[in-house]
Amino acid sequence: MSDNVLEKHIVGVKGIGKQKALKFAEMGINTLEDLFNYFPYRYDDFRIKDLTVANHGDKVTVEGEIYTEPLVKRLSNKRNLISVKVVVDSLIITATWFNRMFLKNQLKRGRKILLTGKWDKNRLQITVAESEFLDNSTNSKKGNLLPVYSLPQDFKQNGFRNIMNNALIQCYHSIDDFLPMDIIQKYKLYNLRDAYRGIHFPKDYQDGKLARRRLVYDELLLYQLRLQIYKMNNRQNWPGIARKIDREKINIFVESLPFKLTEAQIRVLDEILFDMEKDYAMNRLLQGDVGSGKTVVAAVALYANYLSGFQGALMVPTEILAEQHLESLRTLLAPLGLEIALLTGKLTTSNRKNVLAQLQMGIVDIVVGTHALIQEDVYFKNLGLVITDEQHRFGVEQRAILRRKGNDKTPDVLFMTATPIPRTLAITAFGDMDVSTIDELPLGRKKIETYWVKPDAFSRVLEFIDKQINLGRQAYVICPLIEESDKLDVQNAIDIHALLSDHFPNFRVGLLHGRLSSKEKDEVMTQFKDNKINILVSTTVVEVGVNVPNATVMVIYDAERFGLAQLHQLRGRVGRGSNQSYCILLADPKSEIGKERMRVMVETNDGFEIARRDLKLRGPGDLFGVKQSGVPDFKLADLINDYRTLEVARSDAEKWVISGELWKNSKWNKLLKKLKQLGVFEKQTIDG
Ligand code: ADP
Ligand code: MG
Repeated sequence: MSDNVLEKHIVGVKGIGKQKALKFAEMGINTLEDLFNYFPYRYDDFRIKDLTVANHGDKVTVEGEIYTEPLVKRLSNKRNLISVKVVVDSLIITATWFNRMFLKNQLKRGRKILLTGKWDKNRLQITVAESEFLDNSTNSKKGNLLPVYSLPQDFKQNGFRNIMNNALIQCYHSIDDFLPMDIIQKYKLYNLRDAYRGIHFPKDYQDGKLARRRLVYDELLLYQLRLQIYKMNNRQNWPGIARKIDREKINIFVESLPFKLTEAQIRVLDEILFDMEKDYAMNRLLQGDVGSGKTVVAAVALYANYLSGFQGALMVPTEILAEQHLESLRTLLAPLGLEIALLTGKLTTSNRKNVLAQLQMGIVDIVVGTHALIQEDVYFKNLGLVITDEQHRFGVEQRAILRRKGNDKTPDVLFMTATPIPRTLAITAFGDMDVSTIDELPLGRKKIETYWVKPDAFSRVLEFIDKQINLGRQAYVICPLIEESDKLDVQNAIDIHALLSDHFPNFRVGLLHGRLSSKEKDEVMTQFKDNKINILVSTTVVEVGVNVPNATVMVIYDAERFGLAQLHQLRGRVGRGSNQSYCILLADPKSEIGKERMRVMVETNDGFEIARRDLKLRGPGDLFGVKQSGVPDFKLADLINDYRTLEVARSDAEKWVISGELWKNSKWNKLLKKLKQLGVFEKQTIDG
């Protein structure tokens, strides 16, 4: 048995017998630590209020003496009212209860009573929500801020509070702190026992706040330590390729591009090349808004990888994207002598065999492909760099498979995403990765003009589409989203397709939705790319990375149903050519959040700004692309309001792990023990 009281089982706490312990176990509470970590979600305030300064309508608690016999009033069959006069300090007030007839015999003149309820300043009256006789009460609420817990049905707040209180009293002095004293002092943190006491039974709000502050730091620190240790283990267990980077040749290539790289592109390239030179395997996330120029960065990295003697792979989620990337990479790199091949599910058997052989022999330098890349029979001669685009579209396991296709050394891996993630989230969700951010668009990009219109103005939208198409441009029309029902989505798309085909007999209207085979989808997209389709009616399947520069109009039905990040992604399908582009949001949002989303879209084109505002509106859990990547559900910490603490915890964890301090100085022993108990050192597989 451990000597750490927190690890002890709760049986033995006054009020918890064997039977009760089983019920606690159902709530995930076994040890004292589990119990103390069961935090209240709010507090009830039973501190005595001075009525002479209380505002009308305030919830107040007062102490007084009953002055009259109770008066009972029948309001209806079911409702009755009972009232007495009570002397509170120098005031005589009326206390009234609804439907509390059982109090009638207890409300005796002269009894001391605690009243909590709503204060009516004009009538000097309290409508009582809770009351307590003070003459026979041992465990009075009087004067306290009392915790309110989220509890299963058969638990009572009072009972749970008492148990929590007993447990705290019983072991307060034996609660051992796992943080070293100097850290506690440095940040002026509460020690652990006062943090537990203060979060459950705060003396006042300040006390509760300081208790929470300590526990939030703990929560974030432990999480960040886990990530940093995980990252360190990966680097040790998966030795990467320490290679020479031919900067001279790379500079010549960069100089030869038709445009100058932006500062941000140069910076992220440096970060990537730095990792590639090191003897650990790169594990880096490259994020940049739609159109920020990630592809050319990927191309330079692939070129550097080629120059150092290795093959590269670029994995994308759809065939259309694969073909698009193949084209861009060939334009950039084929003139330098690189062999670039495509590997998708569409290849004929003999073509596929051919590509596979060339990959295995090292004839192909770069392969661009879909899931087809991670089939078992795909072998590389010497894979050195793996890039995945729109990384959230691939599961963790799929990304890991490609990484394992290297030889004895682990290939470097770069994940690219056009879904900007605010820094607090990035270092939480992807904390074991390094993050590079392109936070600047190439010069001269035109802002996509965005309009929010009510659905009844649809005829004007049709006129607008008409004009643009007569100018030779193309339009997307994104259909309403029916939650949970792919079938209805498709039906919507079919209906709107029919409606637009009717309205525009002289235009070609195409239709794209998830029920089409990938071959059919490709055909439609190719026709749209070649301007053989003027208007493309689609469900959200067009969302990712598709590049049709001639499309200048994006109409989104029921825009309020989409998340901000998704709206931004959809909007990013236009504005890719030299012509002014437009995004029209058809929406009649009822909720404030819905309206705010529309405003944000109209106000800004900046993906990072949108992500920040999205985070504020919705909280981190829902953020597109983050869901699967596992932002944990913190018990206390809140990624928006506690971001400073997060930054501190992050840099502390990084420092202590990288320097090895955590293992060198015995003052960390208790923390290490705790991490061990949390399973941080158990063997884990790469990627996460
Ligand atoms: P994304 O980040 O969305 O993948 P792309 O790589 O497709 O963006 O780039 C969008 C377009 O911008 C491409 O046509 C690309 O050639 C061009 N581009 C990239 N970098 C620059 C730059 N520094 N200056 C001007 N144009 C650029
Ligand atoms: Mg490396």
